[in-house]
Amino acid sequence: MSKVWAYCNFSDVNERDKSLSLLYKLQDVMKDNRFTLEVIALGAKRCDEDIPIQHLQCLNVSKIYCVTNNVFNGINNYVAYVEAMKILINKYNPQYLMFSSSRHNRIVAAQLATALESGLTAECSKYYVNTDNEIVQIRPTFEGNTYAHIISKSAVKMSTALKSSYQRISISESITKTLDIETIELPLEIPHKNIYFNNSTAFNIPVTPKLEKYDVIFAAGMGLGSKENVNKLKRLAKRHNVGFGASRPVVEMGWAEQSDLIGMSGSCVSPNLYLAFGISGSLQHMEGMRNAAKIISINTDKNAPLHQLCYSIILADAVEMLDYLINEWR
Ligand SMILES: Cc1cc2nc3c(=O)[nH]c(=O)nc-3n(C[C@H](O)[C@H](O)[C@H](O)COP(=O)(O)OP(=O)(O)OC[C@H]3O[C@@H](n4cnc5c(N)ncnc54)[C@H](O)[C@@H]3O)c2cc1C
Repeated sequence: MSKVWAYCNFSDVNERDKSLSLLYKLQDVMKDNRFTLEVIALGAKRCDEDIPIQHLQCLNVSKIYCVTNNVFNGINNYVAYVEAMKILINKYNPQYLMFSSSRHNRIVAAQLATALESGLTAECSKYYVNTDNEIVQIRPTFEGNTYAHIISKSAVKMSTALKSSYQRISISESITKTLDIETIELPLEIPHKNIYFNNSTAFNIPVTPKLEKYDVIFAAGMGLGSKENVNKLKRLAKRHNVGFGASRPVVEMGWAEQSDLIGMSGSCVSPNLYLAFGISGSLQHMEGMRNAAKIISINTDKNAPLHQLCYSIILADAVEMLDYLINEWR
């Protein structure tokens, strides 16, 4: 059996949700019983308190390595995390090592790949198993116009997952799988001054995406045609207490804020309803909202790529539809 390791961090809710979304992405791989999924939790203080055990059981995790050492007290002590991973990889020999999308994880992944002289496939949106029993990593490429299917030939095949919304799973299902927990106290002494990066590094990604709390999101695309129309949609969203989001060109035009951006450069959302006003559906945009339960698109082009994800399509002028909603829906 091949061992798939998921590098997870359960230190706070944000990190935990990103870790769970990685495990969720790996479920297609876990349908194949030639792979076992194991979680590496560095710095978890106590497994029973910090780690959502039931969630992990539902997500087919068979083992957790709970690795403790005082050097993990600060998440910026990247040298410690990289050194710890080198020791663990030598000892347990995983074939695959996947990281979720947080900034800490991306930095550790890059430094570890360099130390191991291993390939690293960045920002994967999906994983599956091919007929040769290898995990194939899918990622957007050529400016998002197509997907590349990548098979790593490194001894430890490493990748970082594109961030995605965490799909809620029902943990009430009866759980039959057992979960093995191994607590490891690593003998590791690394001075805290050995820090490669600090918090001020500029990644322009909202830390706590404001959109994730909404059950309904109205999203503005270029089909709305003007700042004035985008503002109208914003006001409608506010009036009905639903979320407002936008595609990247709408943000680049200055018609919406950076924090409104939905897609691989912004927030990933999974509301119950996503109502898209004049959005074509680029791969980059769809990466941020494909997990919405229902997607409704208002678009004049029936062949817009977004429509492959849609529950319903309204072939209409988005501005007329918006005016109609403003007047009729009070
Ligand atoms: C590295 C990189 C990262 C990116 N990251 C993101 C990202 O995170 N999020 C993101 O959104 N984009 C991202 N993009 C940009 C992305 O490639 C697309 O350009 C963008 O998503 C398109 O936005 P849009 O659908 O609003 O505009 P368009 O593609 O221009 O689509 C407009 C749509 O409106 C329809 N339309 C026109 N007039 C009307 C009307 N009157 N009524 C109804 N419909 C109408 C058209 O038929 C069309 O489908 C990224 C690009 C790159 C290169």
